[in-house]
Amino acid sequence: MGGLTKREIAEWLRAAKKEDPKVLEKAREWLRAIVSPNRTSPLRYSIEFDERDIPIACTCPQFRFRKKPCKHMVAAFLLNHRKEISKHSRRWREWFEEMDKEIEREIERKRKEQEQRRKELEEILSPEF
Ligand SMILES: [Zn+2]
Repeated sequence: MGGLTKREIAEWLRAAKKEDPKVLEKAREWLRAIVSPNRTSPLRYSIEFDERDIPIACTCPQFRFRKKPCKHMVAAFLLNHRKEISKHSRRWREWFEEMDKEIEREIERKRKEQEQRRKELEEILSPEF
């Protein structure tokens, strides 16, 4: 049940080939959604894939209740198929490289945040406190 339909995938690949700036921007927004669903909430969604790496389910409300492919699934689809999308488009190749950097920055930001929390906790737990 659910998942991206063949028609939706075809539409996506067609849009990717056109290098539509609107599609690129939308995709960026969606990819951000899987890197950081919400900066202030600890929510994390899991995506299920079939044997062709096509996303078939997500644990987010959009998919669970409406049974409609969500932004997380589309973003995951883009990541899994980046090779074939990049092959015919320099713009998409650059887009993926840019997103890689953004993901790295996000991971680094989270790592620093955790480090800071660990330090705060250590101070609270230190014997001289
Ligand atoms: Zn989702």
